[in-house]
Amino acid sequence: MGHKQTITILGGGITGLAAAFALQERKRETGADIRIRLIEGSHRLGGKVQTVTKDGFVIERGPDSFLARKTSAVELAKKVGLEGELVRNSTGTSYIAFREKLHPMPGGSVMGVPTELSPFLKTKLFSTGGKARAALDLVLPRTSEDVDQSLGHFFRKRLGNEVVERLVEPLLSGIYAGDIDQLSLHSTYPQFYHAEQEHGSLIRGMRNSRTKQKGQEAGTKKGMFYTFRSGLETFVRKLEEALTDIEIVKGTRIQLVEKEADGYALHCFDGSVSKTNALIVTLPHEHIPSLFPTVPTLQSFATTPSTSVATVAMAFPKEAIEIPYDGTGFVVARGSHYTITACTWTHKKWPHSTPEGHILLRCYVGRAGDEAVVDLDDESIVKIALDDLSSFFYMKGDPSFSVVTRWKEGMPQYTVGHRERIQEVRNELETAYPAVFLAGSSFEGVGLPDCITQGQKVANQAWEAIL
Ligand SMILES: Cc1cc2nc3c(=O)[nH]c(=O)nc-3n(C[C@H](O)[C@H](O)[C@H](O)COP(=O)(O)OP(=O)(O)OC[C@H]3O[C@@H](n4cnc5c(N)ncnc54)[C@H](O)[C@@H]3O)c2cc1C
Repeated sequence: MGHKQTITILGGGITGLAAAFALQERKRETGADIRIRLIEGSHRLGGKVQTVTKDGFVIERGPDSFLARKTSAVELAKKVGLEGELVRNSTGTSYIAFREKLHPMPGGSVMGVPTELSPFLKTKLFSTGGKARAALDLVLPRTSEDVDQSLGHFFRKRLGNEVVERLVEPLLSGIYAGDIDQLSLHSTYPQFYHAEQEHGSLIRGMRNSRTKQKGQEAGTKKGMFYTFRSGLETFVRKLEEALTDIEIVKGTRIQLVEKEADGYALHCFDGSVSKTNALIVTLPHEHIPSLFPTVPTLQSFATTPSTSVATVAMAFPKEAIEIPYDGTGFVVARGSHYTITACTWTHKKWPHSTPEGHILLRCYVGRAGDEAVVDLDDESIVKIALDDLSSFFYMKGDPSFSVVTRWKEGMPQYTVGHRERIQEVRNELETAYPAVFLAGSSFEGVGLPDCITQGQKVANQAWEAIL
């Protein structure tokens, strides 16, 4: 190893890019003579962030936007000159598909938790018994111990099965494509636990947080999400352009990380070896165990589940399809016979994505326990989506084109005990492989802002570690 210290980042998805950008900032601020390298296994950066532009449409294969409330993504976008490109989503009613019907989301529900009485009483989505059961939340004692539990266990206890299966589950499990009876409350939506603890009731707690939020955003009816006018991949392109002090290596996969006296030897599949003093690993968790075969707790990542999903974007001329609902999309309630799990009316939610006179729909298929559909060919997946949609819309013609994207094991599942398991792995890694850091969607949040925050955090840790 030469005299220069090296920090290497594995993986060029949004987490790796955010880490690289943060390290470049530190390097420029301090003038330190440090070599920073980013190694990406594929031939492109961005990982799950992928945009297709075709015939005037802007189509996202993976994420379509990011939460505005978590500011790390917006701040990074501003740093790479993308402030003027930011677009907020249009707001509108969203629906729940239940028994062949689209029910408007009851007004005042916050991620599935009812906070207003009148729309909750009026909705036909729940039976009278189901509504009465949910109201018990107001009098039930709060959870007594701070141990992790499944989202399903927590919500069923507070609101009853009916409200959970018809409203809470389709909304919450959508983000992880997961099974709420397996997903960890603490690692996915800790805010619900805190609301219940603070207010003695989930309904009261969420009502309170909604009132606060309303106060902050008084007079505005702004969308909660951002994207960029020319698609999320613009972010990747701009970051790549900005990373002029970073060595970016594409098309190289690391097979093994070997500990040496003064750092690590990174063995690549092509037989080459490169050296580093600190290492940031941003790969999906299932790719990590084989890199560090001597860390026992890490081996559990090999069997930590991830769900496979596919997105199906379909473009139509306006006259080919009639949507008799004024809204932005729907999610499908648990136990319905549909294969799609959600559908966004992308032309409504993101008007910039669709040329005048056209319609763009994006459906999801695949969820925990029902992933085989993802392995079907494109034509079959499109047909399934169209069949499902025809229950709700009048379809007069086929799509002018469609874009199917499979994400095999693309959604890491934060199952009960996730936070504690990750901590254990980190503790063990700290001793066995000091100056090696883990970040990304398998660890502390799958959303783009969470990934960016994690990338920035480990960048600082790696920097401190080699100084
Ligand atoms: C269909 C879908 C929709 C989503 N929607 C949203 C959304 O709307 N909003 C939102 O905020 N989030 C959304 N997400 C989540 C978000 O997209 C991801 O959590 C995030 O992009 C993950 O970024 P990452 O950098 O951690 O990982 P990835 O993007 O998976 O990047 C990891 C990188 O590592 C590379 N790699 C793998 N193995 C190796 C190796 N051995 N050596 C070197 N490189 C390797 C891969 O090629 C890849 O580029 C969605 C995810 C999916 C799948």
